[in-house]
Amino acid sequence: MGAAMTDASAPAPLRLFNSLTRSLEDFRPVHPGEARVYSCGPTVYNYPHIGNMRAYVFADTLGRTLSFKGYKLTHVINITDVGHLTDDADAGEDKLEKAAAEKAQKGEKTSIWDIARHYTEAYWADVKALNIRQPAHWSIATDYVPAMIDFAKAIADKHCYELDGGLYFDTTTVADYGRLARHGSDEGESRIDPVDGKRHPADFAIWRKTPTGEKRQMEWDSPWGRGAPGWHLECSVMSEALLGFPFDIHTGGIDHREIHHPNEIAQNQAHGCSADSGARLWMHNNFLVDRSGKMSKSSGEFLRVQLLIDKGYHPLAYRLMCLQAHYRSELEFSWEGLGAALTRLKRLVMAAAPAREAEAAPVTDNRLADLLARFDAAISDDLNTPVALTLIEDVAAMKKVDAGQKRAALETMDRVLGLEILTLSRADLRIRPKAATITEAEIETALARRKEARAAKDFAASDALRDELNAAGVEVMDGDPLGWDWRLEA
Ligand code: AMP
Ligand code: ZN
Repeated sequence: MGAAMTDASAPAPLRLFNSLTRSLEDFRPVHPGEARVYSCGPTVYNYPHIGNMRAYVFADTLGRTLSFKGYKLTHVINITDVGHLTDDADAGEDKLEKAAAEKAQKGEKTSIWDIARHYTEAYWADVKALNIRQPAHWSIATDYVPAMIDFAKAIADKHCYELDGGLYFDTTTVADYGRLARHGSDEGESRIDPVDGKRHPADFAIWRKTPTGEKRQMEWDSPWGRGAPGWHLECSVMSEALLGFPFDIHTGGIDHREIHHPNEIAQNQAHGCSADSGARLWMHNNFLVDRSGKMSKSSGEFLRVQLLIDKGYHPLAYRLMCLQAHYRSELEFSWEGLGAALTRLKRLVMAAAPAREAEAAPVTDNRLADLLARFDAAISDDLNTPVALTLIEDVAAMKKVDAGQKRAALETMDRVLGLEILTLSRADLRIRPKAATITEAEIETALARRKEARAAKDFAASDALRDELNAAGVEVMDGDPLGWDWRLEA
């Protein structure tokens, strides 16, 4: 590599990009030795797409890094089962009420609670498939409605006003509203404002009254009428209830930097947290983009983790694909890219295989210690996973090294990356679409017969077997450098 040896004894300082200051900052925990993190969770009106899941791979990588750096982590991810409107600003319908109304129109007897449960469970399945660690708390928004009403009561007099639609937050009552988004005054003014009587375009509902004559499936009594909490209020209340103000890090996708998080910050300030905005660091992952338009939840076959699995890709290939890009960079999805990530994962699993059998031993080999130190430096540098990946590959590829030490180094690194390279096997990573009817045993039998035919120079029989396999969707890959003997066409 030619790089100078790093001082393996001194851990690298953890530096993270704070969206509030738009700069890298040393991580200094509010409570010594601890890290408290809140991540905005999914709105459970539909399946999450793989872009949504990028946000949780990022939050998980952050959590794993904080654990690796020795902090006692408390991570909260919420489940938004009420209050998120079809427009992030202040217009539109509640996404869950809308989904329930659409089902009712089709004559389906699914309640809004059934919808929320179904999609929460689907999200949890994706979390598991992507090896995202369980947070300390999954906070469900509807469990916190009384706490939301209390929070709103506490800030109502000084910071809110009532309209027919409910209770609104006056954004001019707090200092520096919108500094996270860096709204120029023009941008603020240009936001669409469909609500009559709002004092300022950026003001937002913290309690939405059910319109007279209508009935919501989810509604609660409040001093401002029967209705439901606003989405921004939920995250302020749940983060304060579970982590206390100020806590260390608040995460979300880059879209939340514009409206949702500035509004949370305004509420937190109103609730007496002016110095820290609720959290010291606000971190945002950039988007996964897809040119085909298949990430839209309204398209028929949209890009879900389950679709990747159904097409035969191991879901950790998608995790690796996310880690190949820095979380603050946009990442473009393509099936070719996913295939390349799968191949990269397979290579890593194969290279790590000999170390799997060994028992982990203390690392005394200088070369391994140096790679571990460089890994620490990379991951501590605002989660530089693209570089961290190349370093785990360097360890996996190392020859003439004690297998136990190699295992220990790989384990340490993979605890941060979460790719399970010491438990996955090559066979787990074979592309195997759900639609395929031929079994692996049948494929292996046919391939063995074909090998015999070739050994006997019976090329007609060998070609016939290959054609049969092709007809069943199996591509035979003679001499593949990565050792794939066959693959099923997706
Ligand atoms: P939602 O369920 O819409 O509240 O979104 C869940 C999370 O996914 C939020 O943190 C969003 O900011 C994030 N998100 C939405 N779309 C994408 C995308 N294409 N790429 C990465 N993150 C996204
Ligand atoms: Zn949130």
